[in-house]
Amino acid sequence: MALKSKVLIVGGTGYLGKRLVKASLAQGHETYVLHRKEIGVDIEKVQMLLSFKQQGAHLVAASFNDHQSLVSAVKLVDVVVCAISGVHIRSHQILLQLKLVDAIKEAGNVKRFLPSEFGTDPARMENAMEPGRVTFDEKMVVRRAIEEAGIPFTYVSANCFAGYFLGGLCQPGFILPSREHVCLHGDGNQKAIYVDEDDIATYSIKTIDDPRTLNKTVYIRPAKNILSQREVVEIWEKLIGKELLKSCISEQEFLAKIKEQDYAEQVGLTHYYHVCYEGCLANFEIGDGAEEASALYPQVHYTTVEDYMKRYL
Ligand code: NDP
Repeated sequence: MALKSKVLIVGGTGYLGKRLVKASLAQGHETYVLHRKEIGVDIEKVQMLLSFKQQGAHLVAASFNDHQSLVSAVKLVDVVVCAISGVHIRSHQILLQLKLVDAIKEAGNVKRFLPSEFGTDPARMENAMEPGRVTFDEKMVVRRAIEEAGIPFTYVSANCFAGYFLGGLCQPGFILPSREHVCLHGDGNQKAIYVDEDDIATYSIKTIDDPRTLNKTVYIRPAKNILSQREVVEIWEKLIGKELLKSCISEQEFLAKIKEQDYAEQVGLTHYYHVCYEGCLANFEIGDGAEEASALYPQVHYTTVEDYMKRYL
């Protein structure tokens, strides 16, 4: 059997990044985690990095402000997986990856690069609304740089992080489910796709040594997790043994509400608009040049929406 690739995780202390580190170690990869000197005395991050080390990861000191340090880090491995931030209400540094792309290009040894994507496929969002389209546009800038540099890649389209979407019964601004009330987007029947963040990491790491995913987009679409907001609410109602009071917000009202928010909120709300009113995640068939993760890796027992939601009981 071929040796497992050595992996460098960039953004390893992040919400998704820490799960990628865990998955990489669990799948037996020699795992390196970038330790940026800029994190300084951020004790939580330092402690997390040390815990990765205790679990067998190697910490690699480097900085996005020091090209040679990135080149040296990249030279240690076969595969680079980046989970740098890309949510405006938290932090968004997608374009910083251009520096990583330059380093990978110069190092010349990387067999696969997974850039920080893990959401809606940006290639399908050419007509996305302002200002949220900035996320997709920036991810496409990074894709073009990767492809122009001839770097082998896999793009992971992970759909909805369960914590953001299921936690709030698909309502923006909520990450814990109410036991009283829910506001539906329109009729609440538009399908979306929800994925446990640990499963996103597991599937992503599965792709890195897989020739079937080379230079392709991999969508994560676990069949049981393709559900409308109403269906998510029904699952929650079954779990708590109680029906929620329901109101709804029409498309026009939702669009009007977006305009009242600050920029970062607007970016997030326009993403919710595309997902919850337009059904942008589930309204297309996966075509040529792409794969679906749960079909590629049927041995992975993904977390169903119902199982995920039990944590909120
Ligand atoms: P986080 O906000 O948790 O940040 C990840 C890491 O980015 C940080 O831990 C840090 O890593 C690194 N980072 C932050 N600022 C800087 C900086 N100035 N310079 C260098 N590195 C920096 O990211 P998420 O996990 O929320 O997002 C990861 C990806 O997932 C993004 O592409 C995002 O768009 C996507 N996403 C998708 C969602 C969905 O529902 N589909 C939901 C949320 C995110 P360190 O300090 O360790 O270097």
